[in-house]
Amino acid sequence: MELNHLLSALSLVAVYAYLHIGVFALLKNRNSIINKVFFALCIAYAIWSFAYSFAYLTDNPRDFSLWNKVAAFGWCSFSALTLYLVLLLTENRFSMNRSVIFFLFLPSAVFLLMALFLFGPEINTPPLVSGIFYIGDFIYNFAYTALCIYLLARWGSRSDSLRVKKQARILVLSGLIPFFVNLLTQTVLPLLGFQGLPLMGQIYAVFMVLGTYLVITKYKLMRITGNIILDEVENKIIELVILLNDKGEFIQVSKHVLKLLGFEESELLGKHISILFREENRDKVTLETLKEENEFKDIQICTSSGETIPVQIMSVPIEDKILHEFLGVLLIVRDIRKEYELRAINAELHERTIRDSLTNLYNHQHSLELLTGEINKHRQNPESGPLSIMMLDIDHFKKINDTHGHLYGDYIIKTVSDIMSKNVGCLGYVGRFGGEEFIIILPDTELGDACDIGEKIRKDVYRYSYTEQMAVTVSIGVSMLWDETAMQLLKKADDLLYIAKQGGRNRVECE
Ligand code: GH3
Ligand code: MG
Ligand code: MG
Repeated sequence: MELNHLLSALSLVAVYAYLHIGVFALLKNRNSIINKVFFALCIAYAIWSFAYSFAYLTDNPRDFSLWNKVAAFGWCSFSALTLYLVLLLTENRFSMNRSVIFFLFLPSAVFLLMALFLFGPEINTPPLVSGIFYIGDFIYNFAYTALCIYLLARWGSRSDSLRVKKQARILVLSGLIPFFVNLLTQTVLPLLGFQGLPLMGQIYAVFMVLGTYLVITKYKLMRITGNIILDEVENKIIELVILLNDKGEFIQVSKHVLKLLGFEESELLGKHISILFREENRDKVTLETLKEENEFKDIQICTSSGETIPVQIMSVPIEDKILHEFLGVLLIVRDIRKEYELRAINAELHERTIRDSLTNLYNHQHSLELLTGEINKHRQNPESGPLSIMMLDIDHFKKINDTHGHLYGDYIIKTVSDIMSKNVGCLGYVGRFGGEEFIIILPDTELGDACDIGEKIRKDVYRYSYTEQMAVTVSIGVSMLWDETAMQLLKKADDLLYIAKQGGRNRVECE
């Protein structure tokens, strides 16, 4: 009787432990099927333990039978629940198969019905039935537990993840303890002649549940699934979110992303993130770059139809805080098509304010800004190359206008502008300074080179075949910056231009 009291008390403690752990796991993540099945398993053990805490204390066979029938809800289902949990944990494909789950739970239903209706003080159970029941139940429990341990060990050994290996080790160990103790007390010792050992499976299982509890709390086995993170993020901030695993493969893609890219979820899941980028962008978004917290500005992402969309992507690596292991990446994507359109409009507006409409050269104001900017750059960096400028004026332009009209004059201004632009290219900037007067700014250009360019322009203007047979020439003053201000440098070039005019026009005057 003393021992029975102790066992009864231990069973009640176990009830408390199962309920506490089960509820804790469920509250951690109510939406996860893993947590729900674990909760069900804890409830099964709690019922079993609770019933046994009374069964131990009774001498009355009717009461014992009643409590044993209550306990059957626990001891008939725990093996199936454990195997189902292991299938889910190890991400076994059978965990999704409804018929597999049905057959997995079938023996527990059969044994439960047998325990409820074929046994009892008033029932004379035929020896064949009870033989089938005891042997069957033993095989069922033994096979299921062995399978669980095999699946967990295989899961741990196949995974590269330190976390998974550790989890598998704890689960296998904590599952083996009750398995062997049960085997020893219920099968091996009775076979060796030690009969009448109390049934205590419901208490040994505390080891297994505690192991799982450790895994849950310390190694986060009851993962926050991708779905839940995404639901939260999508509810709270309307952004485009992608969740990748540690290999850079899609685990979860928000509805907004699917809509933006025109993909079905099934077309992306399991695929590598690189399928969203064209060749030239692939090396920007690699697993290595994603492991860092990054902002990929203005990157083109490919839609299902092959069209590209400008986006900004922020990557937030997710790391296991205890093992410092990289688990995956959360990508937050911003659709910046509208910004691109606005930027293009702004850029166009800006261009209009800095350019001259007839020639498309920089206007007077902007030419001055460019010049002061270049001079400042020059001042700030004493080792920067020389800066030269050129002032150019079309000769006897009034006569051109007077002879062929204003429109023809415009045509000449435009043609001379094009000749200048062609000769300067990316070496510098060409601006329309006034009516038929121009400025050319040449950063990193020696006076000699600038004069050569001036000479080339002068010749090209002179040799060009204009629509009217009338000579068009230009005069040019070229000067190089020493330590003058923008205005002083302009005056120097202008004075040289005046000298060129005085010297007979169609000349380049260099200082
Ligand atoms: P010089 O060789 O001394 O430069 O003689 P010039 O006739 O070219 O003299 P000036 O530079 O003073 O003449 C500028 C003329 O250019 C005056 C103006 O009517 C004309 N002009 C200014 N802007 C435009 C324009 O946009 N289109 C046309 N067709 N003519 C313009
Ligand atoms: Mg002129
Ligand atoms: Mg002039």
